[in-house]
Amino acid sequence: MKQYEYVVVGGGTAGIVIGVRLAEAGHRVAVVEAGPTDLGDPRIEYTRDWASMIDTELDFSYPLVQREGFNPYLREHIAKVLGGCSSHNNTIALRPSRADIAHWNSLCGGDTWTEETVSEAWARVQEKVRFELAPIENRANIAFLEACEQQGLPRVELETVLAEDDLRNVCGVLPLNSEEGRRESSAVAYLHHADELPPTLNVLTGVRVDRILFDSGRAVSVETSAGQIEASEEIIVTAGSLNTPKLLMLSGVGHAEHLNEFGIDVVSDLPVGDHLLDHPESGVLFETSGSPGGMEINGWEVGAFGEDVMIHFTQELYDDYTSLQGYPVSEHGISMTPNVRRAVSEGTVRLRSSDPEDTPVIDAQLLSDEDDSDIDALVAGIRLCREIAAQPAFEGLVVRELAPGTEVQDDEDLKRYIRLAGATVFHPAGTCRMGFDCSTDNVVTPDFKVKGTRALRVADASVLPSMVGVNPCMTVLILAEICAQKILSERR
Ligand SMILES: Cc1cc2nc3c(=O)[nH]c(=O)nc-3n(C[C@H](O)[C@H](O)[C@H](O)COP(=O)(O)OP(=O)(O)OC[C@H]3O[C@@H](n4cnc5c(N)ncnc54)[C@H](O)[C@@H]3O)c2cc1C
Repeated sequence: MKQYEYVVVGGGTAGIVIGVRLAEAGHRVAVVEAGPTDLGDPRIEYTRDWASMIDTELDFSYPLVQREGFNPYLREHIAKVLGGCSSHNNTIALRPSRADIAHWNSLCGGDTWTEETVSEAWARVQEKVRFELAPIENRANIAFLEACEQQGLPRVELETVLAEDDLRNVCGVLPLNSEEGRRESSAVAYLHHADELPPTLNVLTGVRVDRILFDSGRAVSVETSAGQIEASEEIIVTAGSLNTPKLLMLSGVGHAEHLNEFGIDVVSDLPVGDHLLDHPESGVLFETSGSPGGMEINGWEVGAFGEDVMIHFTQELYDDYTSLQGYPVSEHGISMTPNVRRAVSEGTVRLRSSDPEDTPVIDAQLLSDEDDSDIDALVAGIRLCREIAAQPAFEGLVVRELAPGTEVQDDEDLKRYIRLAGATVFHPAGTCRMGFDCSTDNVVTPDFKVKGTRALRVADASVLPSMVGVNPCMTVLILAEICAQKILSERR
């Protein structure tokens, strides 16, 4: 059996950060990644090609529980490759606002979510990761920013905004974690750019972890597709918001009743897989008179914030779902995709069986909150997109609305469209929620420790106490840095 001090399960966005930081401090670490290396694959290297990885061998592409009236084609596209989703995402790189940090602090206590802890962690991320802004030279990007200003959404430097009030009703150029279009994933920034990697770091690719094994509640080893690996100090699970709950449940950590259904011995009875959050999204698509201009870096270089939505803008038709639903397509077009920044609808992740090969049962329950606040935010978002597109800056460029179509005007019709052709931004979170030590509705403590176990932590998007109000990748890097420092300071 191979032995390390620390075993990190999942070499994704968070896992690589934690593995590298522990190894830099001289500890023997194994990072165990189910997918292949990211090196040498141009689809990963250039961020413009992110969409070419969807539904390939680099994507878990999990099905969702079907709900009547909802987009039947929607799946969860979660990366299976070194670097995780930071290897196949759009690299929009915004840090969480002060409002998110203060809210999480109020839900968790401790010193994990304080301004000081987060700022220090962000500084450590910035030491490793390179960022860039698109020059904004193409016709559509220029028109979008001008139209937003004409609509009363002033242009701000989004990379510097920290106060929540400054992130409402504004537009700007989106910071990207890339350099001349080359992706700065966790794998690139923390592993491939390093002059020299710590000799105590072992990154294993193509190895899937199937179970965590416990000895009297203490996590001692992992069972993998390549044999057992022992951890003398701790196991840190960073397999992402869908696979982390799956692995915990397969290992006996989850709702006792659910685990009993599959004959799995219960190690700790916890609400694993509850509170699945995401950023539900809709789209307003317009045909343009001729080409709106090619992409500058990856095609998603500018955006705007409304009251409760963030709007991504792209100089192409993001018509994957609308075209399948019969909405018109055209050769040239632009898309504005509003998403609910702090969606409150919650879904679940459960086991399908006790077989690690099986996909989890994901019931996303998008837009299901009782007050309809999520879907109402999207209705308002669509209306805002239409108003932006009607501004003089778009005159001569926008020809007609392809989806939902100008005939779709009243709230109920818009809601029908949102449900049927809607998507998410593929930002699952919250399934191993962090909270106060004393609370019973959380899975991990503010120190990332899995309750009712020893020597086991979770540190990935699954621990987020509520939905972050921006794209989550930078938040995940930050929380990984915080977790690594906590492990190291406890060790000292
Ligand atoms: C298509 C797409 C576009 C996105 N665009 C953006 C964006 O522009 N900006 C932004 O901020 N966020 C974006 N996101 C979201 C962001 O990338 C994720 O929220 C974040 O990267 C999640 O990090 P994580 O560490 O929680 O999980 P991941 O990065 O998914 O890491 C989990 C890792 O664990 C591995 N793994 C899983 N199960 C096992 C197992 N049993 N054994 C071993 N290894 C395992 C996986 O292969 C993966 O490498 C996007 C996401 C997607 C999918």
